[in-house]
Amino acid sequence: MVRVRFAPSPTGYLHIGSARTALFNWLYAEHNKGSFLLRIEDTDKARSKDEYLEEILGSLKWLFMNWGEEPVFQSKRFDIYKRYAEESVTKGASYREGSAIIFKVEKGKKVFFDDMIHGRIEVSTDDIKDQVLIKSDGTPTYNFACVIDDVEMKISHVIRGDDHISNTPKQILLYETFKFPIPNFAHIPLILSKEGGRLSKRHGATSIFEYRNQGFLPEALVNYLALMGWSPGDDREILSLEEIIKLFDVKDVNKTGATFDMDKLSWMNGQYIKNMPPKDLDSKVTNFLKEGDVMGGDIDKEKWTKIINIYK
Ligand code: GLU
Repeated sequence: MVRVRFAPSPTGYLHIGSARTALFNWLYAEHNKGSFLLRIEDTDKARSKDEYLEEILGSLKWLFMNWGEEPVFQSKRFDIYKRYAEESVTKGASYREGSAIIFKVEKGKKVFFDDMIHGRIEVSTDDIKDQVLIKSDGTPTYNFACVIDDVEMKISHVIRGDDHISNTPKQILLYETFKFPIPNFAHIPLILSKEGGRLSKRHGATSIFEYRNQGFLPEALVNYLALMGWSPGDDREILSLEEIIKLFDVKDVNKTGATFDMDKLSWMNGQYIKNMPPKDLDSKVTNFLKEGDVMGGDIDKEKWTKIINIYK
């Protein structure tokens, strides 16, 4: 049974990169008739905001992603993390330093995992420092809470960004210590700008809600996101969500960074606009303009439809 999760931190809006991570998880679940779960990583109480959470959930829904079970909130699980951490102290695997709990990393060992995209990744524990599990303020660290939750949520495949590759060996040491079953891992490449660097405002909007506000169609955006690092195996570019679900496999995702190209996305959006049945386009455009307070109530319907048809 495939069970995957998307684990956003509600410390900012959903951006292109995270939306693509969520989408690859969701597609993998849909393709395998599994479950797509949400975990809200809100351990940083000062930086987490309801406003961000709402926007993240709204953006996921807008992009057709739905989840079956109630989201898990890490902020409600501090007692659970504490209990596991105490258990590791009792076992002699961790030690206390003031009110912090720290996991001892045994030197001279190899840790490895077989990434579904990158193949075998191996590191020496000589390169891993002792790991804080619970900080002195009582909050769990990302690596610790992540492992406990992935186990308790029965996650079968952890699909996340490349930037977490160095965390995975640290997490595996925890799985081994607690004798937890180890899930499969797939680290998807980061999204880069055309020039090869990190994606920033300069390259266009970075958060999903800005695309929505600009009038992008979710069908086009989701199609574009799916093709960032994955392809159907031929050179088709316009694919329905049903087709993508049918063809998607995480092991076919590229190893190297995917490039974000605003011109390409605009082109794709244009294709969707041109191919949309006139009636649907009509109501979408009308609603969009009304929401933006650009258009009043009284219009000559017939004339209006013609205008849309000319401009599309
Ligand atoms: N909150 C983490 C992030 O947004 C989750 C990483 C993970 O999926 O394990 O990067």
